[in-house]
Amino acid sequence: MANSNVEVVIVGGGAAGIAAGRRLCQAGIQCLVVEARQRLGGRAWTILDGTGLAIDLGCGWLHSADRNPWGEIARAQGRSIDQTAPPWTQPALEIGFLRSEQQDFGAAIAAFFARLDRRCEDEPDAAAAVLLEAGYRWNNLINAVSTYISGVELDRLSVRDFGHYDDSGVNWRVVEGYGSTIAGHGADLPVRLDCAVRRIDHGARRLRIETAGGTIEADQAIVTIPSTLIAEERVQFTPALPDKIEAALGLPLGLADKMFLSLAGAEEFEKDARLFGRIDSTATGAYHFRPFGRPQIEAYFGGRLAHDLEAGGESAFFDFAVAELTALLGTAFARRISPIHIHRWGIDPFSRGSYSFALPGRADCRRTLAEPVDDRLFFAGEACSRGDFSTAHGAFLTGVAAADRVIALRGVGCR
Ligand SMILES: Cc1cc2nc3c(=O)[nH]c(=O)nc-3n(C[C@H](O)[C@H](O)[C@H](O)COP(=O)(O)OP(=O)(O)OC[C@H]3O[C@@H](n4cnc5c(N)ncnc54)[C@H](O)[C@@H]3O)c2cc1C
Repeated sequence: MANSNVEVVIVGGGAAGIAAGRRLCQAGIQCLVVEARQRLGGRAWTILDGTGLAIDLGCGWLHSADRNPWGEIARAQGRSIDQTAPPWTQPALEIGFLRSEQQDFGAAIAAFFARLDRRCEDEPDAAAAVLLEAGYRWNNLINAVSTYISGVELDRLSVRDFGHYDDSGVNWRVVEGYGSTIAGHGADLPVRLDCAVRRIDHGARRLRIETAGGTIEADQAIVTIPSTLIAEERVQFTPALPDKIEAALGLPLGLADKMFLSLAGAEEFEKDARLFGRIDSTATGAYHFRPFGRPQIEAYFGGRLAHDLEAGGESAFFDFAVAELTALLGTAFARRISPIHIHRWGIDPFSRGSYSFALPGRADCRRTLAEPVDDRLFFAGEACSRGDFSTAHGAFLTGVAAADRVIALRGVGCR
């Protein structure tokens, strides 16, 4: 293998790995990004639909957009930022969900999150489900929203960790794709694609990184693979790092999957309109009509529902969406929609989920996961972020932070 001897190896070419690689290159440090997939970007992935429109199968929203570094990068790449308010901040269509019910639900979920914020630091950690009011009408729908935000139901979600999430409330989109922006940022980096890392031996003076394409020696490594894969020991460490595995076990990836549908006669609906499939069930989809004004529906499924649908194959998602949408819009609506694309992130061997959450009592795992080992192994990726976890900008910031630690240790400045 060429480049079998480098200063720093970056394991994983997603948002964190790309950010780390760019930073190291700017500092003049010789690095190599080693990526298992045949593309850069990881959970950031833009594809084109049949008509050439960019659709994001992974991250789509520049969350905390007013302080999100990917926004500047997208602009510098000549991309367009759409600042339309996200559908979840607007009223839903009044189909199966009266305006008065929406107001009632809005007040209920705001009160739920206020209870969560109050409880975050003051009391022992607990599952967020304890903050639901017993028998309350909106509990199932609040739980459904948790499956979209965190990829998991409230009974598995740490109050403390969720309370640490820092959201500026500004959400924008990149018209040409968030995934394209992130992968484009790595375009000039030294990269080995299709080259899964299997083991990192840190017992000797130099690291030995065993990959599908041979062994690479390096002084230091920045490991950015998803926490699920650390927990499952898909990359093995020699000597073993039980603290890392334990921390990663506390930070599973929740599951959220997007399905894009084409929509005939789309003009009947307002741009960026939205619907819940049901308002009385946790196992329901969120449907975003005409994203960017396009003749499409972006359907979102999370938590146990997404796991069940993944087990049924791609057609299970479409069948479920058709059943929910025809129940609301009439049986003829089925003829107006057809599937464009769905990616099943839960069975994807290089992610095994969508974004991290902390189990109750395990909020501190983020710090443990991010801690370097012997100033030679560094860890980055969204799960390492205390306040921006689960996001692409959180991944970016942890990648830069890990690279800065390497740069400081090597005693070089940015050129
Ligand atoms: C459906 C969905 C919707 C989302 N929506 C949003 C959103 O709107 N906004 C937002 O900010 N975030 C969103 N996210 C989350 C966001 O995509 C992730 O938080 C972010 O992309 C994670 O970046 P990362 O670098 O930490 O991890 P990853 O992107 O997972 O990068 C890790 C890389 O490591 C590689 N890898 C794995 N195993 C190995 C190995 N053995 N050897 C070498 N390489 C390996 C992987 O292939 C991957 O490329 C969404 C995610 C999904 C799935």
